[in-house]
Amino acid sequence: MLLAARVGPPLSAAGGDGDSAYGSVWPEMVAGRAVGRAVGGAHAPPPTKLSGAMASPDTTAQQPDDPEVADVAWDLEPLARGEGETGVRGQLEEATERAQAFAARHAGKVAELDAAGLRAAMEELAAITELFGRAGSYASLRFAVDTADPARGALLQLVQERGTAIQTALLFFELEWAALDDERAEALLADPGLAFCAHHLRSERRYRPYLLSEPEEKILSEKAISARSAWTRLFAELMSATKVALPDEAEPVALEQALARLSGPDREQRRAAAEAVTEALEPGIRTRASIFNTLLHDKAVDDRLRGYPHWLSARNLANEASDESVEALVGAVRARYDIPQRWYRLKARLLGVERLADYDRAATVADADERFAWGDARALVLDAYGAFSPDLGALARRFFDERWIDAPVRPGKRGGAFCSYTVPSAHPYVLLNWTSRRRDVLTLAHELGHGVHAALAAPQGVFHQSTPLTLAETASVFGEALVFGRLLEAAGTPASRLALLAEAIEGAIATVFRQTAMHHFEQLVHTARREEGELSVERFGALWSETQEELFGDAVEVTEGYRSWWSYIPHFVNSPGYVYAYAYGQLLALSVYQRYRDEGAGFVPHYLRLLSAGGSMAPEQLGALVGIDLADPGFWDSGLALVEQQLLAAEQAARDAGRA
Ligand SMILES: [Zn+2]
Repeated sequence: MLLAARVGPPLSAAGGDGDSAYGSVWPEMVAGRAVGRAVGGAHAPPPTKLSGAMASPDTTAQQPDDPEVADVAWDLEPLARGEGETGVRGQLEEATERAQAFAARHAGKVAELDAAGLRAAMEELAAITELFGRAGSYASLRFAVDTADPARGALLQLVQERGTAIQTALLFFELEWAALDDERAEALLADPGLAFCAHHLRSERRYRPYLLSEPEEKILSEKAISARSAWTRLFAELMSATKVALPDEAEPVALEQALARLSGPDREQRRAAAEAVTEALEPGIRTRASIFNTLLHDKAVDDRLRGYPHWLSARNLANEASDESVEALVGAVRARYDIPQRWYRLKARLLGVERLADYDRAATVADADERFAWGDARALVLDAYGAFSPDLGALARRFFDERWIDAPVRPGKRGGAFCSYTVPSAHPYVLLNWTSRRRDVLTLAHELGHGVHAALAAPQGVFHQSTPLTLAETASVFGEALVFGRLLEAAGTPASRLALLAEAIEGAIATVFRQTAMHHFEQLVHTARREEGELSVERFGALWSETQEELFGDAVEVTEGYRSWWSYIPHFVNSPGYVYAYAYGQLLALSVYQRYRDEGAGFVPHYLRLLSAGGSMAPEQLGALVGIDLADPGFWDSGLALVEQQLLAAEQAARDAGRA
């Protein structure tokens, strides 16, 4: 699945708002290749954005007037070895030929390989992956900065087609590898020559009990195009066609534009926007409920055929997360819904309303946003990284000095921000849409965190460079926290402290608490569909309200219209069970940061060892490198305590500012 994963957009995103189709609601958290981990032999799609390649309205509206940033463009030639598109096409040809040759040599004979033979085979697979990864990274990164150029789109399309062909040709290998009995596999993996891929090979075998025969897998995989994929695509098409009639706009607008209104300062406008969204969701809701029902059933059938014990098993397995740790996470977060509720009560006072309604949650509480010059932001971020560790600071500096960053907003450029790992023999790249806001400084810190993680783990090679999904945000959230601390120190007034803390708390609510409430909704609908049969629109609405009202308590009024808002969320349709990973990753990362605060400088070498280990070990072992025990149910509380501290600081700043 390594190759397939490389075909998708190499996205990881800005923590708070950058890469999101829905304002701060959907921080993506997937770093590079971690995106496409296999689920039970099938390819798991990453959550997709409805806005596709469009730059978000938020970023295009604010053209930067910072001349320095205009020249910050990346150089992709190292990926093409200086030969441009011709070189990339050559790499694709070579990867395809070598994949076919590999299949001709090894198909049906994987069980016969001895340790030396397996090593040679894995080295060849690594080389094919590198070749294809270079070409794929070049094509998708070149496309990202100019999505309107047909030539760039055509090359990306070619990459995707070749990727599918290569993946199909190589499918046999992981199936045959998984079919080996445990004793034989362990005997092979004990050979030190296989250290570069041992964890990967061992971990691929975790699907073993759930894999079907090769012909069955082929049928499922081919039929998925006209089944599951067709339904998710229909959902995406229906949602893209959904237009919202806002009272003050002559033409109906896209859903994400209407949802962006919810962060505006005027309550009447927010209420009107929310009502318009509800109205726009009404037509077609039965159709979307029908799609959702079909996919819930499709997953139930898959799980039954494969023998997964419950609806979340496949996802947990893909995330290398134990059922116990996920249950502990969800339990710990649900037990602290008092944190968002207390924030919403403070927010009501800040906004001068008695109680928030659902459409008030995203409203801005900041008076004015500070502006940052690109040069000052670079200095601030490098200083924060360098003060933590000079080595990390020097590595971060290379992103600027060696043109690994593309920063300015340009027409046709993809919105948001991401870091692409590319391949271990090259180096990572960072895409930004710099608009000089404070949020952009934190996004820069976030993406550089992904970047240094990728660069430090590159010596692990293609099989072990990227971490499991649940650890993919560790370095980015950590880097963001370092810079956040600097900004907080520098904030001169209670009002600016409050604005900064508000952003952090709302980020945590969006990533940790809201995603957990959504996960709870998914839990209820998957279970209900299996126990009760097809679910009505009303039943979906009732389960949605139940889980959201639990989150809000009496701090937020849930309006009648909000009952249908489950029906636009793409993750539920595209990637069942996915959303808890946001909460998992964020809280884990915050806990790592908390350890640094507790231990100080002594923590630094442990942290660097964690980043350098990439994905060469299981999550539990990686956690142990920095003294974290993921199996401890109390573990999640330390990350939650950090959010609570920010809440207390925000309450203090609000009092100091005379606003509460
Ligand atoms: Zn990220």
